[in-house]
Amino acid sequence: MAQKIFKLSQIVINQISAGEVVENPASIVKELIENSLDAGATAIHVEIEGGGLELIRVEDDGCGMSYEDALLSLERHATSKLQNIDDLQSLTTMGFRGEALAAISSVSRFELISSDGNATKIICEGGRIEKAEPCARNRGTTIEVRSLFFNTPARRKFQKSPSACAAAVRRTVETLILAHPDIAFTLKVHGKTTIKVQPASWKERISEILGRLEHEIELQGSGFSISGLVAAPSKAMINRSGQYLYINKRPIFSPFIARAVKEGFGTRIAEHDFPPFVLFLEIPPDEVDVNVHPQKKEARFREESKIYKAILQAVSASFVPVPSFQEPLSFNPPAPFSFTQTPFPSFSLAETALELDIEFAEQVLTVFASYLLLRKENLILVDLKAAHARVLFESFQEEQKGVQTLIWPLEIDGCDEETADVLNGFGIECRLLGKRLVVDALPALLEPAHFQSFLTLLREGKKLSHVTSNYCRSLKKNYSMDEAFQLWRLLQKCQDRIYDPIGNAIWTELQENDLERIIKHAKN
Ligand code: ADP
Ligand code: MG
Repeated sequence: MAQKIFKLSQIVINQISAGEVVENPASIVKELIENSLDAGATAIHVEIEGGGLELIRVEDDGCGMSYEDALLSLERHATSKLQNIDDLQSLTTMGFRGEALAAISSVSRFELISSDGNATKIICEGGRIEKAEPCARNRGTTIEVRSLFFNTPARRKFQKSPSACAAAVRRTVETLILAHPDIAFTLKVHGKTTIKVQPASWKERISEILGRLEHEIELQGSGFSISGLVAAPSKAMINRSGQYLYINKRPIFSPFIARAVKEGFGTRIAEHDFPPFVLFLEIPPDEVDVNVHPQKKEARFREESKIYKAILQAVSASFVPVPSFQEPLSFNPPAPFSFTQTPFPSFSLAETALELDIEFAEQVLTVFASYLLLRKENLILVDLKAAHARVLFESFQEEQKGVQTLIWPLEIDGCDEETADVLNGFGIECRLLGKRLVVDALPALLEPAHFQSFLTLLREGKKLSHVTSNYCRSLKKNYSMDEAFQLWRLLQKCQDRIYDPIGNAIWTELQENDLERIIKHAKN
């Protein structure tokens, strides 16, 4: 009878276990970056091609490896981070179990160059070491992973499209970048640098990656602490893509904590909305159960209800008191107005404008949907959509266009090169994949959710002034106090602070007799 039982070779074992550690390009990028972080790197460069399926390269300036360690690192269960099983609980470094490099190198064409002073290069194909020799490199490590899953075609088939893989890699990189503000990172996708950050404070890092999150959370509980930022209610999203949670600096997915945050928002957001946040929870490792399995990202807490309540209260407390605008606002000296260029003086705004812009030290009173009410001597009513259009319009003309990288790139089908060129000219970072437009970064005042309507207007061939005005007019939006105030502030820096791009007044002053007239109207 033929032999039925075979002992699997180490390579096949590695390939099978690779299924757990190496799901897709994003999970490889995560493992490699975490290794670089463990190695004490101060700068990490990531590059991918073909969504990472063709190439992933991670380069660091960490401690590097000796010749012997470099060879060992590709063996399963080879790790410098775990001596015995008791260490598992209190392990503070990122990696564990020494499986990643063995697994990754078994399902790719793999190259490792590492130097701890003396440099080594190892070339490995499908888990077989082809070459190991001395070479030249500064201290640090570069790992290149090519032709991912070339020898496991079934797994290759299960991969998403290169652009979806690239989006997932980007998300992974951003998630790690947020937790390590002291480290410089770059991400290159298809030869184009899409993320480049220098060491910064954690708040700076967050705003660089996600834009401004308004509400600060700072809480010292008994035996744990929580810090971070939560977005204003108006920025709530339709999915969890704006939510980042870290436990002891490790990214963790926790619907439990997300729910606590949401409850902290109370009725400020709709039932199906997800508030963006970045929260760092510091807690003794034995109070939380996380990293028992590489793919198990969910956290369990020993004292669940204590943590739930604390987060809920911290978030809720961050909304009160409402931001105060007591301090006088200081603006750049106003630029001279040229009324000749604005032939739409619909009412006697011009004169009041001249008086008003001497010094904007007014009080912000309230926001009503898309209107802002201010007080100087009289009341000033600002049409926020018109202000939005003006600020957006002028931002397109600036040399330095401030754009914000999108967490999830937008994808729009049926676009051509010409559209992409026009958008690039506006500072909108986008590229064409066949006929699909992938948008990576947008001006802060152009909302991803409404980008399609902006694009439609643009493709109708309208002038930019009409596009921006119609776009803002069509926004179904209630501005938050913060947004309104921000717009009002940005408006002060505009060349024209009186009219929107198509000549509608942005604000009007309400005199006493205006109020009388309104009341009279109401009475009649
Ligand atoms: P683990 O990180 O769990 O130890 P890996 O397979 O990811 O397992 O890595 C194996 C070992 O290789 C690590 O323990 C570390 O000693 C070494 N190593 C991997 N990547 C790097 C790097 N970028 N710099 C220095 N050493 C590294
Ligand atoms: Mg590792």
